Amino acid sequence: MKMENGKSLPKPAVSEIEKKLLERIRESEGPLRIMHVCGTHERTIAKYGLRSVLPENIEVISGPGCPVCVTPEEDVNIAIALAKSGATIVTFGDMMRVPGSAESLLDAKSEGADVKMVYSIDDAITLAEKKPELEVVFFGIGFETTVPANAAALLRDTPENFSILTSQKQTPPAINLLASDTNVDAFIAPGHVATIIGTKPFEPLAEKGFPVVVSGFEAADILLGISLLQMQVEKGISRVDNGYPRVVKPEGNTIALKMMNEVFETADSEWRGIGNIKDSGLVLRKEFEEKDAARKYEDFYASALEEVRKRAEGKDKKRCICAAILTGKAKPPKCPNFGKECTPKSPAGPCMVSQEGMCYNWFKYSREGGGKIA
Ligand code: SF4
Repeated sequence: MKMENGKSLPKPAVSEIEKKLLERIRESEGPLRIMHVCGTHERTIAKYGLRSVLPENIEVISGPGCPVCVTPEEDVNIAIALAKSGATIVTFGDMMRVPGSAESLLDAKSEGADVKMVYSIDDAITLAEKKPELEVVFFGIGFETTVPANAAALLRDTPENFSILTSQKQTPPAINLLASDTNVDAFIAPGHVATIIGTKPFEPLAEKGFPVVVSGFEAADILLGISLLQMQVEKGISRVDNGYPRVVKPEGNTIALKMMNEVFETADSEWRGIGNIKDSGLVLRKEFEEKDAARKYEDFYASALEEVRKRAEGKDKKRCICAAILTGKAKPPKCPNFGKECTPKSPAGPCMVSQEGMCYNWFKYSREGGGKIA
């Protein structure tokens, strides 16, 4: 079986550690439905064919762990409206391809809007410094992993022509919501998020009776995580195990947390495919409101936003089922567009855009006869 790029697929996990972990996992007979909430976990699981080597009684499903996938259409619409109103929108490459209600930032760029790709908020600030004639807006999306960099940048002096459009999310409220809404027995929590916030924010989930393990991103890390979850189930307990202690401290990164809290505060937030989740967003504090592009330019982009929304009326959205995929209720091959009208080269929905997207990874790495991955 070849991947999309013509190269052969990597072989499934075979190291001695992985073999031993798999033996341990196969000894446990009870059924276990595990959800992870991390695009990087999904990538490792798909890349190494882990679902195809797990026993039938273990199912690993993906939750809303891909940041560009959960960025709501309306936030993309606002970014497009800002660009069409004369602002220079700068953001990550993946974000440029994610569809809003009717189009993506890349579509807007092809129509003449000033949209640029950057690798970090610092690149955006540098652009604003070099081009004072531009109104530079950084479209900042992501989870707790990327928020500290945004906070650190805003704590420095930034030029007047620089502002940020935020669509930042916090992971634990989404997991807590899904725990009460999804048929899941246990959770793998994202190691990079826990590196920042620590293990404590996942404790309410364990208190509700769900075994939780914080996992790293190697195949062995994920197998270890599954094994630790099985052990909790066998003992009839639920707690937060740290399966990534080489990086994650229980208290997290206190310096990063302090910076985040100085600049951002918790607010309700809209997640694509899920809806509004209480206290799941991070928005700029009042002290930083002059850097908030949504407020700063509200009057300028209002009519462009109406136009962007109108374009969506009657538009065929190709029946994207990302909402069901992001909540673990469906798998990519269930979508009629999967691999046909929707591919990484021509994504019809957000889950096919990013290397962290479930559809992207299933398209790129799915194997013939690959057990649960197929
Ligand atoms: S295959 Fe494409 S259209 Fe279908 S759910 Fe995935 S992203 Fe959406």
